[in-house]
Amino acid sequence: MKALVYQGPGEISLEEVENPSPAADEVLLQVDAAGVCGTDRHIVAGELGVRPGTVPGHEIAGTVVELGSRVEGWQTGERVASFGQVTCGTCPACIAGQSNRCRQPAVLGMARQGGFAEQIALPARCLIRLPDTIPSSIGAIASDAIATPLHALWTVGGLRAGETVVVIGAGGLGLHAVGLARLAGAACVVAVDPFEPARKAALAAGADATLDPASEDDPVRALRRLARGATLALECVGRSDTVELGLAALSPGGRLVVVGVGSDRPQLPPLARFIGTELSVLGSFGSTPAEIATVLDLIERNHLDVSQSVQREVSLDDAAAIFSEPSGPARTVILPRD
Ligand SMILES: [Zn+2]
Ligand SMILES: [Zn+2]
Repeated sequence: MKALVYQGPGEISLEEVENPSPAADEVLLQVDAAGVCGTDRHIVAGELGVRPGTVPGHEIAGTVVELGSRVEGWQTGERVASFGQVTCGTCPACIAGQSNRCRQPAVLGMARQGGFAEQIALPARCLIRLPDTIPSSIGAIASDAIATPLHALWTVGGLRAGETVVVIGAGGLGLHAVGLARLAGAACVVAVDPFEPARKAALAAGADATLDPASEDDPVRALRRLARGATLALECVGRSDTVELGLAALSPGGRLVVVGVGSDRPQLPPLARFIGTELSVLGSFGSTPAEIATVLDLIERNHLDVSQSVQREVSLDDAAAIFSEPSGPARTVILPRD
């Protein structure tokens, strides 16, 4: 089969590779769509230490074409979305349904072959049924670009109706965070991004206001003026300056949820302010299969606008080139069957 293979820093190419065959507990999927996440771009840039020879891609929708000998409850022809990592299924976190905290995870496209390919074999426990009315491109990105901000804002952040929410970084995750904050009844949503198309998309997704931090002498003051006391901030960038901006924007008792991944070491405010105003900083990683099912349900019932979520679809043959182009505000999705 054809697959996009990471060859080393800055290099990814279309190759002919061996077809996967499903183990006893696995299902073989024909990949219908695979979203290109910021993480895939970091992999291809060589920033995440992924082994050359790996096929990236962890946002996958597909159709079941073959079942392993011990798989029950699935049939060929069923459409599915996949959880973004293969979990052990047996550790305390997995048993509690918190498989994003699995102790032995293999992230697709990093520790295990991913979805930028014509086929992929995955354990049946990683699959979520995809309703007929949801296109494959949306099913693919639901597992990460939409379920990750849902986990961060609703589950980890405990978003309540009436809150003022700041979203820092209005890319794939941040845009959906704006829509999810609106859906949960946020009274005010402010999106922060230096990239103009991202700010425009955030307004279209329901943000009340946006801020370009690069055009402000004092971004903290500007953000405080716009948000007038944020109670919940979401950081989707993964840098010290944006984590510190999120913390500085909070009113007393506020929570900052960080989903942006990186190697920076952000600073806490002076302890007198951090303790004295009871701020919280919370890490949030991925989502659970149950949350992905919730996202699919919200989309199927038209509660969540995904009309802007995919900006471009490309064939596998044309996909290698997109890694040398700048990413836009919404997702690019690879369609291996085109
Ligand atoms: Zn991702
Ligand atoms: Zn586990």
